[in-house]
Amino acid sequence: MCDHHPSTASRRTALGFLGASLVAGLGACAVPGNQSAESPTAAPRTVGLSPSSSASAAVSPTPSPAGPGRLRNPFVPDFTLPPIQGGLAPVITKIPTKHPVVFLTIDDGLVKSPESVRLLAENGYPATLFLTSNTVRDNPAFFKAFMAQGSLVENHTVSHNVNMTTQWGYQRQLDDIAGMQDFALQQYGRKPTLFRPPGGTYSTAMRQAVAAAGLKAIVTWEAKANAGRMDYQYGNSLRPGDIVLMHFRPEFAADFEAFRSAQVAAGLEVVLLEDFLDVA
Ligand SMILES: [Zn+2]
Repeated sequence: MCDHHPSTASRRTALGFLGASLVAGLGACAVPGNQSAESPTAAPRTVGLSPSSSASAAVSPTPSPAGPGRLRNPFVPDFTLPPIQGGLAPVITKIPTKHPVVFLTIDDGLVKSPESVRLLAENGYPATLFLTSNTVRDNPAFFKAFMAQGSLVENHTVSHNVNMTTQWGYQRQLDDIAGMQDFALQQYGRKPTLFRPPGGTYSTAMRQAVAAAGLKAIVTWEAKANAGRMDYQYGNSLRPGDIVLMHFRPEFAADFEAFRSAQVAAGLEVVLLEDFLDVA
């Protein structure tokens, strides 16, 4: 979708990834209609990262923002978010990393089911929640349960106008983006640092507005869990550094299982994007 690939950071280290203990699969379920995503050699997975507290204590220089249940990064990020240049926010579609990590993002906030809270909690997955204020305004408090588990709320506009880049000029886009900044701060006590464009479409004016609203980057995706299966823009499995798109939809459980199966089969650990980018 986007060819803007920021250069890899210089702060590369030789530090190994402790989650190498990702182990053999708990009989990962097949992804409907996509046998190729299934790996018979799926590695077993550890439950969370906590059992290896001695190990993680040895290599955890990354800041771990406050929040009960928040997992600590067991690695040193090998990618640095490019700065805002010329007033334009950088665009990230995938993180170039050697670490076996994957990032889960969940959008909009339409369906607010206890099941979605339970599924993330049971698996210990933190997620980046790109919420639209008009969509969550009826019950913004619902999403605090995810925050208590280590997830963060980010900016997906006030209106979710998927044609905003063509219909609106800079100022109206800025107003729509800044409105969600204010809403998030008021409801969740934190100003978002990441922005996802409605429909994934962005423009130069949008990149300017995102930067002007105080956000650090636009985040799109190259893989998504949709209608109970995984869709990949490249290849047929998850890759290290992939950013996965999901939605709070009625089929949340099926989408989640499609993601989880693919993540386990690929031997990847679910890590919070904001932690990796140091923008939590
Ligand atoms: Zn959306």
